Amino acid sequence: MKQFLLSLSFLLSASILIAQPAKNYALVIHGGAGVMDKDKMSPEIQNEYIAALNKVLRVGDSVLVNGGTCLDAIERTIVILEDSPLFNAGKGAVFTHEGLVELDASVMEGKTLKAGAIAGVRDIKNPIQVARTVLEKSEHVLLTGTGASQFAKEQGFQPVENSYFYTEKRLKSLQELQKKEREATTNDKHGTVGCVALDSYGNIAAGTSTGGMMNKKYGRVGDSPIIGAGTYANNETGAFSCTGHGEYYIRLGFSRDISALMEYKKLSLQEACQEEIRKLTEMGGTGGVIGIDRKGNIALEFNTSGMFRGFIKSNGEKGVAIFK
Ligand code: ASP
Repeated sequence: MKQFLLSLSFLLSASILIAQPAKNYALVIHGGAGVMDKDKMSPEIQNEYIAALNKVLRVGDSVLVNGGTCLDAIERTIVILEDSPLFNAGKGAVFTHEGLVELDASVMEGKTLKAGAIAGVRDIKNPIQVARTVLEKSEHVLLTGTGASQFAKEQGFQPVENSYFYTEKRLKSLQELQKKEREATTNDKHGTVGCVALDSYGNIAAGTSTGGMMNKKYGRVGDSPIIGAGTYANNETGAFSCTGHGEYYIRLGFSRDISALMEYKKLSLQEACQEEIRKLTEMGGTGGVIGIDRKGNIALEFNTSGMFRGFIKSNGEKGVAIFK
């Protein structure tokens, strides 16, 4: 009998061990790519960005180390980036031609290929949360404008005034751009934030959130809420979040193409991201991409002079950078 109980307790503890997720996780973030001149960005501003990126990595790490899913990590990290006025997403997003803020966001889960996205919303404080709610609660993938806002309200999100998103810096940039009627530098025009994550259950996901391109007109929607363009995730290949001149990303089917390069051509995550950036450059587009696969390999590729970016892994590796 004693022998039986001993073996039972051994079996129970073994099964508990098996049920515990292996603590192998990783997370990559970006805060937009563009023309970034090291000499023109003051050390104070650089430090502000570095501190913000480090904070986001700490939060992402704590979600994953405590057994949160890749979707949890993406939502929590992107909410911080949306709430920070430093980045072109949520508060601090760029203005449209009419002087409003219109936001796009999406999220995709690699295990199920489920996705949720919203585009052109003016009153949703944290678009990534509503994108996740579309993924989890809606029969649709992409909701736009007032319909997306109505869905958000029905799901219990409180709307905010459009003025909540305004920052002096973005308003000045728009006024300058419109007054001078000059060709803006890429940096003036875009930004975006994103996150890709591998959780300790071996699943990956990607999320992206943006104000889009400054001075955009006619209800323009970029790549960020388009599944397969600015965001894509598939457990069999990788999870990707993009930033850059959205029109090129849509035309290339950018992130889905990276996945296809891995699936059909058997390229590694990094090779596939580099190849897609090469195609982007050849077409005359600018921007970057972050990627992750189920083994925890990561990629951070861009063809601009800078991309706000960072990564953290369960083995303690960590990095944050702005310039090339
Ligand atoms: N890709 C975004 C868009 O085109 C902008 C950006 O990433 O900077 O809307």
